[in-house]
Amino acid sequence: QNVNTDVVIVGAGGAGLAAAVEAHDLGAKVIVVEKMAFPGGNTTRAAGGLNAAATPLQQAKGIYDTPEIMFFDTMKGGHWKNNPELVRVLANHAKDSVDWLLALGGDFHDVGLMAGATKPRTHRPTGGNLVGPEVVRTLYTAAENRKVDIRVNTKAEEILKNAKGAATGIKVKGPEGEYVINAKAVVIAAGGFGANNEMVAHYVPRLKGFSTTNQPGATGDGMIMAEKAGAKLIDMTEIQTHPTVVPGNGEMITEAVRGNGAILVNHEGKRFYNELETRDNVSAAILKQTDKNAFLFFDSDMQKSLKATNNYIKQSYTVTGNSLDEIAAKMKVPAAALKQTMTEYAAAVAAKNDKQFGRADLPRPLNKAPFYAIIVTPAVHHCMGGIKIDTKTQVYGQNGQIIPGLFAAGEVTGGVHGGNRLGGNAQADIVTFGHIAGQQAYIYTRLNK
Ligand code: ADP
Repeated sequence: QNVNTDVVIVGAGGAGLAAAVEAHDLGAKVIVVEKMAFPGGNTTRAAGGLNAAATPLQQAKGIYDTPEIMFFDTMKGGHWKNNPELVRVLANHAKDSVDWLLALGGDFHDVGLMAGATKPRTHRPTGGNLVGPEVVRTLYTAAENRKVDIRVNTKAEEILKNAKGAATGIKVKGPEGEYVINAKAVVIAAGGFGANNEMVAHYVPRLKGFSTTNQPGATGDGMIMAEKAGAKLIDMTEIQTHPTVVPGNGEMITEAVRGNGAILVNHEGKRFYNELETRDNVSAAILKQTDKNAFLFFDSDMQKSLKATNNYIKQSYTVTGNSLDEIAAKMKVPAAALKQTMTEYAAAVAAKNDKQFGRADLPRPLNKAPFYAIIVTPAVHHCMGGIKIDTKTQVYGQNGQIIPGLFAAGEVTGGVHGGNRLGGNAQADIVTFGHIAGQQAYIYTRLNK
């Protein structure tokens, strides 16, 4: 029951689906294997947007932005640990990724600001719909329309190589049992290891026992398999925690809540940090508070501005009060302290100057009842490290040489995000580098006959 194909792709998240559609459109025969019952991976859970600079949508809205500014923001956000060549590709080509998704029928017609970016460049669906499901819908529909062979419940177990050290396919286990998919090129797009706490704690012991926002299939298989096949892994200790996750169930509260105006308040009823700082800094600040968590606090104005909050209310993540006294009682924080915090914050908004914490964007004074609060804590969210690739998504071996026929894209790779990933850059990463991987894998199959 072994099969032959041009390109085999491990993982049907955003990166794998992008690679599949592109390789197919260039003329390759493609098989995608996905170990879970559904495609989508962690990509489906992405709530923010897709960062891209100098897009027609930005221009139509009068937003001045360039790849150079996106490059700078990404490098700065990543503590300058990113591979600058990969970031250059990301910043230059993210715009083409948006164009491509639009051409495939996706809705990315809204643009907004996310933490760590100096320009509104995160592209997302209209009407407050979430970006990840739209990326998956767009690419999966495209793959289905093209009749790409996507095999769910099929887990890749091993990357196969020939005597010359080139990748020649994978061994998989599917509903039919174990078999081999022989391929002229192999693309690893199996995502990260956020849901494998043993692996997380192996690289970063202080994260032992952390909850996660990741889907259960994010167990690092791609990195483990690639390393066994001789690939080099880099930046494995760079693991991002999402700052605002509902304790216990790992449900992520989108950063747009803070972007649209919510503040963070601790159990003493006080603000304690610039809410729009980078994710790792906000996470560290929350972990320093009583009970290692804090409240996202907002008013009805902010609530109405963001569709995602309807869902939080429906899921009962929020406590609500018609006055500051009422909500303080429900939050079990001192009412006097909360009232003082809100008076000071409204004054900072009016003065357009947050002297205390230096928050740059102060959209609203948060003084319209009813008020809302959601308790949040950081959880493991994104693995910045992974397989070392070059700008063509070719995989580096531990000996420093390229492994012929082996490509990798998306969260399974390291280097794009350095020490910290900016919100909106994962979608840019997976679509851009997934697309490149599809292209390069195709070219390899044609040149390497
Ligand atoms: P990215 O954002 O980089 O595309 P995702 O997490 O969205 O990453 O997608 C990765 C996909 O790879 C997930 O759907 C995951 O279930 C799948 N996957 C992980 N390990 C394997 C494996 N061993 N075999 C097949 N699919 C895998």
